[in-house]
Amino acid sequence: MEGAGRFAPSPSGDLHLGNLRTALLAWLFARTSGRDFLIRVEDLDRVRPGAMERQLDDLRRLGLTWDGPVVLQSHRLPLYHKAIDQLRERDLTYPCFCTRKEILQAPSAPHAPDGAYPGTCRNLSEAERAEKSASGRSPALRLRAGIDSFTVHDELFGEVTGPVDDVVLLRGDGVPAYNLAVVVDDGAQNIDQVVRGDDLLTSAPRQAYLAQLLDIEPPSYAHVPLALNSEGKRLAKRDGAVTLADQLEAGRSTEQVLTMIASSIGLAEPGEVVTPPQLADRFDSRKIPRTPWIFPAK
Ligand code: GLU
Repeated sequence: MEGAGRFAPSPSGDLHLGNLRTALLAWLFARTSGRDFLIRVEDLDRVRPGAMERQLDDLRRLGLTWDGPVVLQSHRLPLYHKAIDQLRERDLTYPCFCTRKEILQAPSAPHAPDGAYPGTCRNLSEAERAEKSASGRSPALRLRAGIDSFTVHDELFGEVTGPVDDVVLLRGDGVPAYNLAVVVDDGAQNIDQVVRGDDLLTSAPRQAYLAQLLDIEPPSYAHVPLALNSEGKRLAKRDGAVTLADQLEAGRSTEQVLTMIASSIGLAEPGEVVTPPQLADRFDSRKIPRTPWIFPAK
């Protein structure tokens, strides 16, 4: 097997147990299918100093090994700009002057899914563009999508058809957007298996479509359930000992935390001491729970 899997954290804070569980699952999917496992730090947005180092430390402590150097998106800007230029040259982009508020308030286009960009700036005339530019707004650059839905394959969800809209490629501040960077990187790093939280399932069709436009074979996906608190909300600090550091402080060992995560995916008995390679021997992607992991685990 030539391809690779990956874990791509955003260094905006410590990884919580749900993120660590996703990392373990991504590692298991990659290792049990003979793939390399890569770490990519998605640091184009919200970076908290020291967070990357702590995230990598946590992964190491849990025994998750990776191949090659850790890749940082902030070191790869020319790659993203090259892809954007390719799309621009093919007339597949347009400047968008809308603010977030205007997008939320705009009536949605007929048949457009909720939350999709309604296309306000798609067909502005040159004069209208010049006028908006003159008002001092620096535009984002959007994809001129040629379709409105796309189908991907997901190991857990099967065939998933979802909306494709005119995603932002380059933000108004000149920074390449997440959807573009992720597609370019997965292609450039030969990643053909994307395992990540199922909050990103709805992004997969638009990312796979964008990949295709850039002559990148879309990866296979596995969107795995998130960890939620007892109210069904994403884990946050107030939910208690939600990070590895919190758990250690509460008197648990790293081994115990690995066991807790592994038993949440049915790979260990409570209290059993396990290592990632042992978990790989037991791993069966068909048996991954399909419902969120409710924390604190009972
Ligand atoms: N950096 C994203 C996050 O931490 C993940 C992106 C991805 O896996 O495609 O939520």
